[in-house]
Amino acid sequence: MENKRWHVHYPEEIPTTIEYDQKPLHSFLAATAELYPEKKALHFMGKEITFAEVFSQAKKMAKYMQSLGLEKGDRVAIMLPNCPQAVISYYGALMAGAVVVQTNPLYKERELEYQLNDSGATFIVCLDILLPRVTNVRGNTSLKHTIVTCIKDYLPFPKNLIYPFIQKKQYNMVVKVEQSEDTHVWQSIIEGGAEDYNPVEVNPIEDLALLQYTGGTTGHPKGVMLSHYNLVANVQMSQAWLYKAKPGKETVLGVLPFFHVYGMTTVMNMAIMLGSKMVLLPKFDAEEVLKTIHKQKPTMFPGAPTIYVGLLNHPNLKKYDLSSIEACISGSAPLPTEVQEQFEKVTGGRLVEGYGLTESSPVTHANFVWDNRVNGSIGVPWPDTDAKIFKVETMEEAVVGEVGEVAVKGPQIMKGYWNNQDETDNVLKDGWLFTGDLGYMNEEGYFYIVDRKKDMIIAGGYNIYPREIEEVLYEHEAVQEAVVAGIPDPYRGETVKAYVVQKSGYQIEEEELNAHCRKHLAAFKVPRIYEFRDELPKTAVGKILRRKLVDEEKEKLQEK
Ligand code: AMP
Repeated sequence: MENKRWHVHYPEEIPTTIEYDQKPLHSFLAATAELYPEKKALHFMGKEITFAEVFSQAKKMAKYMQSLGLEKGDRVAIMLPNCPQAVISYYGALMAGAVVVQTNPLYKERELEYQLNDSGATFIVCLDILLPRVTNVRGNTSLKHTIVTCIKDYLPFPKNLIYPFIQKKQYNMVVKVEQSEDTHVWQSIIEGGAEDYNPVEVNPIEDLALLQYTGGTTGHPKGVMLSHYNLVANVQMSQAWLYKAKPGKETVLGVLPFFHVYGMTTVMNMAIMLGSKMVLLPKFDAEEVLKTIHKQKPTMFPGAPTIYVGLLNHPNLKKYDLSSIEACISGSAPLPTEVQEQFEKVTGGRLVEGYGLTESSPVTHANFVWDNRVNGSIGVPWPDTDAKIFKVETMEEAVVGEVGEVAVKGPQIMKGYWNNQDETDNVLKDGWLFTGDLGYMNEEGYFYIVDRKKDMIIAGGYNIYPREIEEVLYEHEAVQEAVVAGIPDPYRGETVKAYVVQKSGYQIEEEELNAHCRKHLAAFKVPRIYEFRDELPKTAVGKILRRKLVDEEKEKLQEK
């Protein structure tokens, strides 16, 4: 790659260009299982599983699916939280030649039905408690086979005995699954199964590994087509970036969901490639995460700002030893500098901001973990990744410091949207992916995200970026979480509204917060309305759903 402005900051340990393995993604599980057969690959609620076992079970899954008629290119939906089955079925499906369709276990029937139909999935792997939802939509989809598993299948004794009672209490549901022609019980596949699956020839550049759905907050989600090569390249880039990570020696905390591309690449695929132990948590519960870090001593912990905020504000934070943490990358939303500094103080490790999107497998930029980092910036483009800023109105390249749309190019960029050429043409131009994010590059080649193009507020003729106001709100000691949105206003077009969650033990008045904002922001940016809430709506990776709040306001207006 030609020399770019940001390459001068690369430490000598990180190459600016990498020779990517032209291999299928799942070949890395086979390689790691051969290198570290007896090393623990997964830790799940007290039970540990070796790489050899994960590989063996993935082979059984591949064999079983093939015996049911699965062919290369068929789509397999995986509807699981983080648990051993999520890793095993993902790799098993890939080994059988399938394209994985990650399905959010929180999907309601309508969303599930849409995704199954759009992707044309013929198999689904799901938890027993999700089976009623799958059964209700099945007849309207192309599903042929459902593989059903239960959390207790991987719990150690005696937790596995107690689990049905917990499940009944928590979900008010006892699901009895019977093996039939189209419904298959996970345990019987794994316990009695054969490993001699039929390895499928994969062209890593051409063949898809994944359909990853995104963009659900506006219209229908789109299936992002990611090839084996896209995903392998992004993991190899991560590996190069985290050059101090020791193969076979790290422990990674898996709290980011694997059904989202961010957790899938930076935790699951990275751990499999590097031979790291993954400590799996099926959902985010701040105290559970703190306890797990204390006990399992993970060294790496990819997360999102709201996850780190949740931990730092937990009343029992001081009870736990978090000093095992060495390196964390925060992505998916802006990382307030306050949070970064506090987290580093508490753990003694490094927390840096990165950036990316589903369409780029996902990472394109990050700060250097141990080297020349610049707080408040998303860092610099990764190896072999190019980035430019384009003026929104004219589509010409912007000058240094000028805000425009961020576009990225590199081996991790998707092939396009599944069955949606129009949307593909809207965002992919000459190999450049137009991200829909507004940002700029400084003299040194560091990039900054100002906001999402569609989140920019236009109030009284001024362009206002919510992120700038949120940064100011986060600086107030009483603020735990804040999000700013432009809500419809008959006079100003839109007006600035702040939604705030206070830290426990604080009781702040609107006037005080307003005075704080007035001190640090030009008058036209100061929120006109404040609303205090106990919590804010979030996505599965903890991104605050600003759009949902705006939609609520629109609904309220319509009701008036
Ligand atoms: P997703 O496709 O769900 O991974 O969402 C990608 C979007 O998350 C990007 O287009 C950005 O709008 C946002 N995003 C990711 N990382 C950051 C970051 N560090 N700062 C601000 N926004 C981010």
